[in-house]
Amino acid sequence: EKTAGDTIICIPSRMGQVKIGTGHCTVIAGSCAVESREQYLPLAEKLKAMGVHILRGGAFKPRSSPYSFQGLGEEGLRILAETRELTGMPVVTEIMDPRDLDKVYNCSDLLQIGSRNMQNFSLLKEVGQIDKPVILKRGLAATIEEWLLAGEYILAAGNQQVILCERGIRTFESMTRNTVDIGAVALVKQISHLPVIVDPSHATGLRSLVIPVARAAIAAGADGLMVEVHLQPDQALSDGPQSLSPEMMESLLKDIRDPRGRV
Ligand code: PEP
Ligand code: MN
Repeated sequence: EKTAGDTIICIPSRMGQVKIGTGHCTVIAGSCAVESREQYLPLAEKLKAMGVHILRGGAFKPRSSPYSFQGLGEEGLRILAETRELTGMPVVTEIMDPRDLDKVYNCSDLLQIGSRNMQNFSLLKEVGQIDKPVILKRGLAATIEEWLLAGEYILAAGNQQVILCERGIRTFESMTRNTVDIGAVALVKQISHLPVIVDPSHATGLRSLVIPVARAAIAAGADGLMVEVHLQPDQALSDGPQSLSPEMMESLLKDIRDPRGRV
């Protein structure tokens, strides 16, 4: 339920203004990582044609193993900037190191703080000083209070454009990658004025669970979704098993647009 004091984030783009926190579901989608021009540009065009609002794509990837694909780094940022130019769509990418702030800022419309950096207080203070929205993902094992206080670091440093993202937490459960905390979405909507979105991809780790969990997120009051999509999920350099095919993404968008899908 939307109330008068709720924060609405406005992102200017050539496609018009994209808003998060209006009571409608804002959809962010794209591959886990930007893998190459040839991989990312056709995906972006496809997602644009479907009506996705914001593109995602990691250039700096926080991988558990140092031997896994780490993202293209600055080359990935250049591809994101080119994609934004060609499609006119806003893009979001993760910042891991304050030393990359200027480069990431120039190539994206929103910045993402990943789970592993939710309590990287120096990084939070840095993004607190910029004038672009920040998506703050819940830490792997963060309580709701720790998550909100991490958001407070950004607000206190001067940046009022904070979007909270529930992406599942570590529990004893091992059949899913993380355990999605749907109750947290409803609770944070009640106690905070900030928009809350849900990432059903990292929350489950399994493609077949992404659509049901996305629907649950919307039913719980989420202001938006962040979904991993790949044109060839089985060939993705990261997070293929949780990436939707374009066909599945279309089906999710249909669900969201169907008013009966919201209950
Ligand atoms: C991501 O969204 O690219 C990501 C790495 O997610 P998380 O920080 O939630 O693990
Ligand atoms: Mn990922």
